[in-house]
Amino acid sequence: MLDTPRFTEITSTADIRASRHGSRAKCLQRLIRMDLPVPQTVALPFETVREVARGDMPDLHTLISLFDGQPLLLSVRSSSEMSDWGGPGAVLNIGMNDTAHAWLSNTLGHQAADALYLRFIKSFAIEVMRLDEEPFAEITTPAAARATYEDEMDEPFPQAIADQLGAVLRAMARAWDGTSARLLRQAQGAPAEAGLGLVVQRMAQGMGAGQSGAGVVQFVNPATGEPQVTGRYMGQAMGRDALLARDKALYLTEDPRGPSLQDLLPEVYQELIEIGDACRRRLREEMQVEFTIDQGRLYVLDAVRCPRESRASVAIAASLARDGIIPRSEALLRVPPATLSRLLHRQIAPSAEREVLARGVAASPGAAAGRIVFDSAAAQASDARDEACILVRRETTPDDVRGMHAATGVLTERGGSTSHAAVIARGLGLPCVTGATGLTISRRKREMRLPDGRVLSEGDMITIDGSSGEVMAGEVPTLEPALDGAFGDFMAWSDDVRDIGVRANADTVADATLARTFGVDGIGLCRTEHMFFDPARLTVMREMIFAESSTDRAAALERLLPMQRDDFTELFTLMAGLPVCIRLLDPPLHEFLPSEGEGERALAAALDRPLSEVKQRGAALREYNPMLGMRGVRLGVAVPEIYEMQARAIFEATVAASRDGAEVVPEIMIPLVTARREVELVKRRIDAVAAAVQAETGTRFNFRLGVMVETPRAALRAGEIAETSAFLSFGTNDLTQMTYGLSRDDAGRFMSTYVNEGVYPEDPFQTLDIDGVGELLLLGAARGRQARPDVTLALCGEHGGTPEAINFCRLAGFDYVSCSPFRVPVAKLAAAQCTILATRTAK
Ligand code: PEP
Ligand code: MG
Repeated sequence: MLDTPRFTEITSTADIRASRHGSRAKCLQRLIRMDLPVPQTVALPFETVREVARGDMPDLHTLISLFDGQPLLLSVRSSSEMSDWGGPGAVLNIGMNDTAHAWLSNTLGHQAADALYLRFIKSFAIEVMRLDEEPFAEITTPAAARATYEDEMDEPFPQAIADQLGAVLRAMARAWDGTSARLLRQAQGAPAEAGLGLVVQRMAQGMGAGQSGAGVVQFVNPATGEPQVTGRYMGQAMGRDALLARDKALYLTEDPRGPSLQDLLPEVYQELIEIGDACRRRLREEMQVEFTIDQGRLYVLDAVRCPRESRASVAIAASLARDGIIPRSEALLRVPPATLSRLLHRQIAPSAEREVLARGVAASPGAAAGRIVFDSAAAQASDARDEACILVRRETTPDDVRGMHAATGVLTERGGSTSHAAVIARGLGLPCVTGATGLTISRRKREMRLPDGRVLSEGDMITIDGSSGEVMAGEVPTLEPALDGAFGDFMAWSDDVRDIGVRANADTVADATLARTFGVDGIGLCRTEHMFFDPARLTVMREMIFAESSTDRAAALERLLPMQRDDFTELFTLMAGLPVCIRLLDPPLHEFLPSEGEGERALAAALDRPLSEVKQRGAALREYNPMLGMRGVRLGVAVPEIYEMQARAIFEATVAASRDGAEVVPEIMIPLVTARREVELVKRRIDAVAAAVQAETGTRFNFRLGVMVETPRAALRAGEIAETSAFLSFGTNDLTQMTYGLSRDDAGRFMSTYVNEGVYPEDPFQTLDIDGVGELLLLGAARGRQARPDVTLALCGEHGGTPEAINFCRLAGFDYVSCSPFRVPVAKLAAAQCTILATRTAK
């Protein structure tokens, strides 16, 4: 490698690299190559700055001699490799001393010269020499500032520009090594050894005679990304002054609210517009430009990537691609997938003030404000009054689902990212915060105690942010979702490149409709139990569970059959030939039991049985450990009539939906399998039902029977299980729970401690644990594929919507991932990004 000079003047041909001099230095070179009026600039590479921090200064006299003209005033700005990594703030007017002050008093006038000198002494004292701000706060003259400096430092204020510059470079180099700067940049993904470059630039004065001032301009609206010139300009100002004193600054474009730069200096304004356009084309980005007008003449001091909110980042990338400035693949790579999720939901307005009352797990994205309600009945009453409400519960059960339908958001004291509340809320697209530590909820007293001891009552207004996990006081302003043209482009372009399927976990027609609008490849998981939570169906379901004789059970199932058939017919018709994977009943039956008290009384009335009998039967069905109890395929083996009814409903719906055209090939999935024999038992019965329905209807159809791999044993025995399974779909929620032996409903309580203590790098229910659970997936996939090479492999746990899991599944050769409908856009973009990056690496 060539020795890098200790500093280099930035010219159009100089060897300036972002990886050596930082992105600001590189950007300035690009501006110079575009012939923009950039003041003379010298770049110090990372290595030189490291040496400066160690006390080895480059030859500053030679550096200074590269600049011509008198008096010489310089600025120093930081230039890290990626602009997001930050860096110490700029120091302006280096070189201000008694001589420069006298000279500027003659040329710019006393006032301007005093202001410059005062400003420099203060910033040198506070930002460079780290003196306390306080003694300088009231000072208004350079002489007084100098005296205070000399008092505090016990040495004269440095007059030589080399001394001043040396001190500035040293202070900035050392600030980069400070702990807080290091932590901040590491949070942005910077490596531990990330370097800092510095750029030393001749000051273009925005103070003094004629039209002089400084401003900042950008050419798109930072919230929407739509073309719009925004920013401010202020006369007799420097750097970003105009943004700090907005009420004294001018608008840029003509504006009814006050005077503008366009009125004042139309040619300069026009020049700025052309610069914006040139930057967009040549730098392939929307830039924010910092400029100075020195006696009517425009200088471009700096340009950075225009700051933007989620919606704008999608709109800008899409518009650059549509205009042919960047390829579509580049546009897709520029937007982090999670950004799309923010577009689908209301968001807290970034500028909104908020009082955070508590924090929990960000369980389902989006923000919602509403009055607190403590149960489903109150939620429904509130909904009937057209009043937004937040359902606040210790944790939710199936009984709360109707309340969730009526609420605008859900907050629970317990639970994590895959607890009942979280899974249902994500399916409904409802903002949800679970496991809000420190909250104590009393439904009886209808109040909620906050971590600081304050108490909120039913009817009090709160806002929850399911994207950050925050619970806030009152109604915090939010931004509307934004599914505009740019969003549609992103979906279509992602579909063009991705090479792994993305299906949706959809239980209802509403979910499936939403999934279709996002253009899914099918339904990867229809959790049939969710179809029974409708109050009318719940009663029949309970009758079935409470049946003591098989005749009574058959009678209840007979009533459930047409309901299920209608559900499936609607789903198949809606999905029009796309695959639909229906999971047979999974949860422990007790989840359908009535709550104690009122629920039990209502059921006794519906069944026309004594309350004591209902209580007794309920108690008999309760299990110590229901998630490991009588659920999933165990139910199918022990009470086979339930799965038979479901299979019949699926097949009859297949026949009904196929009549309208598109061939329907249903997929039936058996949950919680642990052994081959379970699959064989269920398969035999399902095959018999299929044969019966074909004979009864005189219609032939195909179907695929597969297994949900969600117990460690199923992953280990995937070889023999695959022999009777057309597909293996990994349920990583239960698989994570069982691999860790960690309750998905309770882990929220201590997960943050675990993550903070570094026990787990992340909550494994949110981010797939590649090392442990991932190994089981690889093992299961390999054994399954070896036994049956054409076996379809999928992942349908909540992780299916996360970029890490998608990348993992793609590399492992899975056919598709499946996730809640609202995560589909994120999953599609993440899948497209994996493919693009993999193709680039392969080239
Ligand atoms: C799973 O366990 O990963 C899964 C998808 O099923 P459920 O969340 O319904 O248990
Ligand atoms: Mg499961």
